[in-house]
Amino acid sequence: MPRNGDGPDLGASIRRDQLEAVRRSVQQAMPVNALLGATGALVAAQAGHGGAGLAWFALSSAINLARFGLCRAPCPGLVAPEASPPWQARAAACVDRHLRLATLAAFLSGLVWSLVALLCEGYTAPQSLFYLVVTCGITAGAVTHGMAYAAIPASFITPPLLTVAGCLAWAGGFDRTCLALTTLLYLAALLRSAVETERGFRRTSRLKNEATALARARQEAHASASALADEMRRRATHDALTGLMNRAGFAQAAEARILRPGPAPCLMLLDLDGFKSVNDVYGHSTGDRVLAEVAQRLRRTLPPEALAARFGGDEFAVLYDPSAEWPPADLAAALIGVVVERFESFDAGRLGVSIGLCHAHGPSLTQMLSCADEALYAAKAAGRDRFRIFDEGLRGRLEMRRDSERDLSHALAENGLAVWFQPIFGEGGGRVAGLEALVRWNHPVHGWVPPGEIVAAAARAGLTESLLRFILEQVCGAMQSLRAAGVSDIRVAMNVSPREMAQIPVDEIVLDRLRTLGLSPSLLEIEITEETALDIEAVQGKLLALSRAGIRVALDDFGIGYSSLASLRQLRAGRVKIDRSLVTGLSASDDKRGLIQAVLGLGRALGLEVVAEGVETAEDLVALRALGCPLLQGYHLGRPAPADHALRQALACRTDAA
Ligand code: C2E
Ligand code: CA
Ligand code: CA
Repeated sequence: MPRNGDGPDLGASIRRDQLEAVRRSVQQAMPVNALLGATGALVAAQAGHGGAGLAWFALSSAINLARFGLCRAPCPGLVAPEASPPWQARAAACVDRHLRLATLAAFLSGLVWSLVALLCEGYTAPQSLFYLVVTCGITAGAVTHGMAYAAIPASFITPPLLTVAGCLAWAGGFDRTCLALTTLLYLAALLRSAVETERGFRRTSRLKNEATALARARQEAHASASALADEMRRRATHDALTGLMNRAGFAQAAEARILRPGPAPCLMLLDLDGFKSVNDVYGHSTGDRVLAEVAQRLRRTLPPEALAARFGGDEFAVLYDPSAEWPPADLAAALIGVVVERFESFDAGRLGVSIGLCHAHGPSLTQMLSCADEALYAAKAAGRDRFRIFDEGLRGRLEMRRDSERDLSHALAENGLAVWFQPIFGEGGGRVAGLEALVRWNHPVHGWVPPGEIVAAAARAGLTESLLRFILEQVCGAMQSLRAAGVSDIRVAMNVSPREMAQIPVDEIVLDRLRTLGLSPSLLEIEITEETALDIEAVQGKLLALSRAGIRVALDDFGIGYSSLASLRQLRAGRVKIDRSLVTGLSASDDKRGLIQAVLGLGRALGLEVVAEGVETAEDLVALRALGCPLLQGYHLGRPAPADHALRQALACRTDAA
C-alpha cells in the first residue's frame, strides 16, 4: 500500500526494503534475545523458581524459533521484480503479509517478555532489578535494531513495559509509582523514536529507489534512443520498398568491399526492360509489387554474401565475389532467368532485364559503376534479356562518351560540329522531295561520333538546347538557300529525340526562329523516333503546337519501336518512315515485302505519307517501286553530305528533271 503519496511502484519498493531490513535485524537480534532469556531462566532458578524459569525459557525459545523461521520463509515479492502489473500486485501483497506476520510474532514475543513479571513477583522480589534492567535493555535494543518498520519494535516493547509500569503501580509506594511513570515515559520515548527512525528509513529507501528508477529510465531511454538511431541508419541506407540497400548504403558497403585485398569483385547493373509499360498498363501499385518481387528473386538467386541494392526506378546493382560455382556470366544468365519468369500471384505482363557487368579491380566504385553502366548500355542496345561484360572494346566507347561530353561545348562554340543533309526522293526515286538534316562531329581523337551519342552527350553536359539551336540554325540556312534558289517544294527534315522534345520547349524555339527568319513552317518537318517507349503525354502538346503551325511531324524508325496506331494519331504524325532494318534486303525477303505492303496500306488508310529508309541496292529500289512506295531514302539514291554539296545535288536533280 503506498504511503505518504509515494506512487504504487515506489511504495512497493520501499515496503520491500523494509521487509528485507526487518528480516536482517530480527535474525541479528535472536541470539541476544536467546542469551538474555537463558540468563533470566538461570536467575529464576537461583531464586527457587526453576520450573517456572524453564517453562518461560521454553516458551520464549519457541517464539524466537518461529520468528527466525518467518525471516527465512520464501517471499516472492523479494525476488527480482517482473514487469507485469498482476505479478507486481501479488508481490506487494506478499510483502505486506510477511510484514504483518513479523509484527504479530514480535507482539507474541513481547507478551512472553511481559511474563517475566511472574518470575519476580510483579517486580517486588530482590531479582527485580535484574529483570528491570534486562527488560529496559531488550526494549531499547529492539527499537535501535528495528529502524525499518516501527510497528515491530512497538508491538514488541509495549507489552513488557506496560506490564512493568502496571506491576510497579500496583505494588504502590512513592518510589515504585515514580518508576512506573518513568517507565511509561520511557515507553513513549521509545515509540516516538521507533516512528521517527522508520520515517528516516523510508526517506532513505525512497531516495535509493528513485535513484534506481532514474538510472533504469535513463538506461531504457538510452536503449530506445540507440534503437531509433539504428532504425534511422537503416532507413538512410536501405530502400523501403524492396528492403535492399539504396544507392547510399550500397556505395558505403561496396567501397569497403572493393578496397579489400583479394580476387577482383564483380559489379552488375541491372535495368528492367518493359517496366515503364507495367506502370502505365497495370498501375503503380502493381509496379511496386513487381519491384519487390524482383528484389526477392534476386536475393534468392544471389550468393549469400553478395551486396544487392535498388538504385531507384527499375535499376538494381549487385556486387559479389565470383567463384568457380558462380562465374559472372553464369550468375548474370541465372538472374535474367529468374527475372523473366512470370509473376504467379498477379498479372504484370512479361518483364525483361538487361545486365552490364564489370569484373575487374576497379580503382574506385565510381569507375566500376561507369564501366558497368557502359556494358549495360551495350547490353540494352543488343536487345532484351541480355548481359554484357565490360571489355576493351567498351573501354574505347566509354572513353569516347566521356570525351564527347567533355568536349561538346567547345566544339559547339568553335564550329566543330556540322549538319549534313541526305536527300529523300519522291516519285519512286525520280525527284528530290526533301532533305533530312543529320548532325555530324569529327572528334579530334575519336573520329566521327555517332549522332545518337552527340545528342546523349549534350543531355549529360546540359547542352541539349544549345545543340538543338545549332542544328536548327543549319536547317534554317538550308531552307533559306532553297528559297533563294526559288525552290518551294523541298522540305527540310530535322530529327528531334523524344527526350529533347520532353526536356526543352522545342515548339517555341523552332516557331520563334522560323518567324524571325520569315521562313514558312510548311517547309519544315520534325522527325521523332520511338526508340524507347515514348512518354506521349510529355511530347504531345509540343507536337500539336508544331503541327498546328504547319510543320509536318514524321514518326521515324517505324516498325521497330513501340509505335501503336493510337500513338500515330496522338503524335499528329503526317508521315511514317519505315525503319531501314525492314527495308534493306527486301528484294530477297517475302516477310519484309509483306510488312512494307502492310505499312503502305496503313498509310493509305490513315492518310499518311510513307517513306522507305535504307535503300542500299538497285534490287531493293526495284522491289520498292514494284510495291508502289512513292518516297525513298538510302545510300543507293544519295548519301548524307555537307550542306552545300547536298543542296547543289538537290537543285541539279531538279534541273535534270526539268
Ligand atoms: P535516322 O533518323 O533514322 O537517320 C537515318 C540514319 O541512317 C542516318 O544515320 C543515315 O546516315 C543512315 N542511312 C541513310 N541511308 C542509309 C542506308 O541506305 N543504309 C544505311 N545503313 N544507313 C543509312 P546517322 O546520320 O548516323 O544517324 C543515326 C541516327 O541518329 C538517326 O537515325 C537519328 O535518329 C539520329 N540523329 C541524326 N542526326 C540527328 C539530329 O540532328 N538530332 C537528333 N535528335 N538525332 C539525330
Ligand atoms: Ca530520321
Ligand atoms: Ca530512321
